[in-house]
Amino acid sequence: MVRLLSIVADSVVDGPGLRTVIFFAGCPHRCRGCHNPSSWSPEAGTTYSTPDVIKWVEEIGSKRITLSGGEPFAQIEALEQLVLILRPDYEIYLFTGYRIEDLVKEERACRILRQVDCLIDGPYVKELHDRSLAIRGSTNQRILSTKQIEQYIKNR
Ligand code: SF4
Repeated sequence: MVRLLSIVADSVVDGPGLRTVIFFAGCPHRCRGCHNPSSWSPEAGTTYSTPDVIKWVEEIGSKRITLSGGEPFAQIEALEQLVLILRPDYEIYLFTGYRIEDLVKEERACRILRQVDCLIDGPYVKELHDRSLAIRGSTNQRILSTKQIEQYIKNR
């Protein structure tokens, strides 16, 4: 089971191409200036079964997925399940408010990170907001490729 705020079809702002975006509910980071404070509560949104989410994604049809929030890693079991099912057929972008240096300390987080095509990490920092940034909200957030992710896992 996974608690989601929504699933949005055909987004053009959450990575390259037309993407299906899965917004996880709940976020422990509580960044000042967050675009969506109503996502913070772990009770926000609605609970769905993993097969229902997969069916929904399949019906939308795009092979490009973005996992966002809220904070996907706050539901790490559900996140792992979804990523492992989606991985073979979908390109996966993953947004997190955690920094990769902290995520790689956990084995399960590493298993998830190994399956994603791109990670956008770090909390939103209002003072570092830059409207010209693609995908990210503030300059501290990084866009990490599979190669860079693997390097962080190797050096942990
Ligand atoms: S990580 Fe994202 S959703 Fe969570 S508080 Fe920060 S900006 Fe808001």
